[in-house]
Amino acid sequence: MPTVPTIILKKGKEKPLLRGHPWVFSGAVAKKEGDVSPGDVGEVYSEEGQFLGIGHLNPRSQIILRILTHKREPVSIDFFKERISKAALLREAWLKGKTNLNAYRMVNGEGDFLPGLIVDRYGETLVLQCLTAGMDRLKESLTDLLVGEFRPQSVYERSDVATRGEEGLPEVSGLLYGKEIPDRIEIEEYGCRFRVDVRKGQKTGFYLDQRENRLFLKSLSQGKRVLDCFCYTGAFSIYAGMGDPKEVTLIDSSEEALAMAEEHFDLNRLGHIPRQIIRGDAFEVMRILKPGYDIVILDPPSFAKKKSHLLGASRGYKDLNLLAFRLLEKEGLLFTFSCSHHVSWDLFQKIVFSAAVDAGRNVQVLGRRGHPADHPMDLCHPEGEYLKGLICRVL
Ligand code: SAH
Repeated sequence: MPTVPTIILKKGKEKPLLRGHPWVFSGAVAKKEGDVSPGDVGEVYSEEGQFLGIGHLNPRSQIILRILTHKREPVSIDFFKERISKAALLREAWLKGKTNLNAYRMVNGEGDFLPGLIVDRYGETLVLQCLTAGMDRLKESLTDLLVGEFRPQSVYERSDVATRGEEGLPEVSGLLYGKEIPDRIEIEEYGCRFRVDVRKGQKTGFYLDQRENRLFLKSLSQGKRVLDCFCYTGAFSIYAGMGDPKEVTLIDSSEEALAMAEEHFDLNRLGHIPRQIIRGDAFEVMRILKPGYDIVILDPPSFAKKKSHLLGASRGYKDLNLLAFRLLEKEGLLFTFSCSHHVSWDLFQKIVFSAAVDAGRNVQVLGRRGHPADHPMDLCHPEGEYLKGLICRVL
């Protein structure tokens, strides 16, 4: 019996790993050796006995192994310390000169070569999310490590994510270290201020991944009528507000999110901006709004959490984009996003194209926008690219 749990792949199944992909699917495994239990560190070999890497195992998950290293090296806590320090160094370089920004993603899972681990910073609070059994088992050591390296006031866990079910893990959240966190943590993002509910807010509390796209919106908002669909706590609208728009309309289905959006106008001294805040289903509300908007933002939740949802998701995205095109003035702009990694750039563009055709509008694409540098993607792991945005100009 080997001392290290080991999996041996079926013939030919080593190819993606040799090209650097970090996942092994259970269907690719020919044989398991040793005691392969959820969260163990184990080795993976090709059918011919070639060493392919070391990773976190979970026989309960479809992804039976997530590669931590392709080299033979000890996977101790120092290994994680080095990876986290490298991730932090990348953020340090990217943050240089950005004195008005204190909320960002510090560790982005596979994108920082730490599969299953997310760390977000909200000022002096770090939020930890463990998505795999391997990372879950390391939770305490990772917390100690984060405290030792970055001296935060608090480390809070937000591992209340449905995908943990696929790993056989419960959804959990709570304080891991330090002072109990306040109900709202105030953050600054390019001079805009937001109150983040780290305990109960969506994701780890805030959509950090849309920051640069919001900044782009600000630069275009002067004198415009802006419609912010799926606004959550109003972050796009606040940036638009900073750009001196004519008026903003916000739509979301969440009452708590909208109450926070309203607070954000006061917090940013934007109480004077004419606005309408509408609680409801964006599909229904957009159907009854009158046309005449200069900018529409569509930032819906993921409609395709699974590949099997793709058809329904495509219909949903198409309906939304069609409604948005109908609401836009001539030369108006549509900021349209999908945050599902199952929806490719190609498919998303086709959906937006078919919505434009049905709306009878000619459309120019001014740019493609994705997630920012604090959400890096490993090129070997295209599944890590989820956010796709098109900036369209309607003629
Ligand atoms: N644009 C936001 C993030 C949007 S997240 C930001 O930058 O912060 C998606 C939002 O859609 C969530 O706030 C969720 O409450 C909302 N939502 C989900 N389904 C909805 C629906 N059918 N109609 C309106 N809002 C919906």
